Amino acid sequence: MREEKEIVKVCKRHGHLNINDIQLIKHKKCKKGFYYTCKICNNYSKKMYATRNRKKLSENNKEYRKKNRDKYNSWARKYFKKNRSIISERANKKYNNDDFFKKRALENTKKSMKKLRENISDSYVKSLITRDSLLTSKDIPLFLVEIKRMQIILKRELKND
Ligand SMILES: [Zn+2]
Repeated sequence: MREEKEIVKVCKRHGHLNINDIQLIKHKKCKKGFYYTCKICNNYSKKMYATRNRKKLSENNKEYRKKNRDKYNSWARKYFKKNRSIISERANKKYNNDDFFKKRALENTKKSMKKLRENISDSYVKSLITRDSLLTSKDIPLFLVEIKRMQIILKRELKND
């Protein structure tokens, strides 16, 4: 820590930086294996890069996830379990402050609800049964799910006639 305090960096935009403005970045290509940079500028350029390459980055991500689905899924499950409260807190905050994020989140929810409805999956049927009751999905026996599913299909058929 003492070593870091002695480092005086100069940012072209911000001038001399104090310790709070400096960020250590690990970088394999550097001689030391890391370098120091201005935190504000670095965050800014990261943001700009992400904005400029949003499509490409998300496509890369998608491609990677597709190729490593099992690996990714188990990693994501573990990560989510471990960080559940932080993630939901962050998402809540973002949802309340970021209109673009909110819109996308609502759209995604709508889409996945539509998919669920179309497939009439067990979990969708269970969610319908448990919606207005004290039961949880674990309490619903399979035969009840089957009955409810048939009811839904019947209702839809009647509607289409
Ligand atoms: Zn700077």
